[in-house]
Amino acid sequence: MIIGSHVAMKAPKMLVGSAQEAHSYGANAMMIFTGAPQNTRRKDTSEMKIEEGKKLLEEYGINNIIGHAPYIINLGNTVKPQNLQFGIEFMQGEIKRCDALGIQALSFHPGAHLGKGPDVALKQIAEAMDEIIDENQNVSIAIETMAGKGTEVGTSIEQIAQIFDHCQKNDKLSVTIDTCHMSDAGYDIKNDFDGVLNEFDHILGIGKISVVHLNDSKNEQGSHKDRHDDIGFGTIGFDALNYVAHHPQLEQVPKIMETPYVKKDENDKKGVPAFKEEIDMLRSQQFDPEMKNKLMAK
Ligand code: FE
Ligand code: FE
Ligand code: ZN
Repeated sequence: MIIGSHVAMKAPKMLVGSAQEAHSYGANAMMIFTGAPQNTRRKDTSEMKIEEGKKLLEEYGINNIIGHAPYIINLGNTVKPQNLQFGIEFMQGEIKRCDALGIQALSFHPGAHLGKGPDVALKQIAEAMDEIIDENQNVSIAIETMAGKGTEVGTSIEQIAQIFDHCQKNDKLSVTIDTCHMSDAGYDIKNDFDGVLNEFDHILGIGKISVVHLNDSKNEQGSHKDRHDDIGFGTIGFDALNYVAHHPQLEQVPKIMETPYVKKDENDKKGVPAFKEEIDMLRSQQFDPEMKNKLMAK
């Protein structure tokens, strides 16, 4: 099982700190943002401690490195053309950073149509991808399946396929399937993951999946909410997520958790990550309903 979580990459340790954090969870994969997820300020790769970080990653046996593009890039924005241009230029830089960091796939939120309807947005995203993609890049841009919050696009496998269809350089595109997002979008991840995977295979081909975001959901199937929950504590549940994590057709695909930190109470602002405990449960294939209580007692 290739499994890990998102980890921080911050000064001064940068990639070295990311490797140490992932190792502390017992992970063999990790996902990083190249800077803060909410903004587009980025350090130069010369300041990211890349050589030292890569050495550590190799030593720890963490050999699946995923990236995530910032949330605020919206290539589907047909209302403000200047935003589109900014997004394209940012993503061109992001690809260079990913290749320097050794990131194999970059999870990417396709965007939002802002009232103009998904078709125009999806076409614009595909055309933007043709400008962004460098034929010689190593990183694959892994378009993420979205929950359908607001006017998000990419909420169905068909919509993701529309991006592939309109993009000439789609050999550099792949897909991130997020279990929370797909359940929130209406797919039956809980009871019929094989049915969903089959549908994906017919429309795009299973081989296009380069990343799985393994998250439980706080809301019911079809809720269009996008609020992640800890593995086994949400509406999808442990058995279904464990099934995804160990699925033979997804064996080579890294599973990345973006589950919330566990908090003592409402006054606990930060909380503590449960990634180590979640990885342990998935490795042993055994849910521990007391996991959060034990973690809080530590
Ligand atoms: Fe995401
Ligand atoms: Fe995700
Ligand atoms: Zn999400």
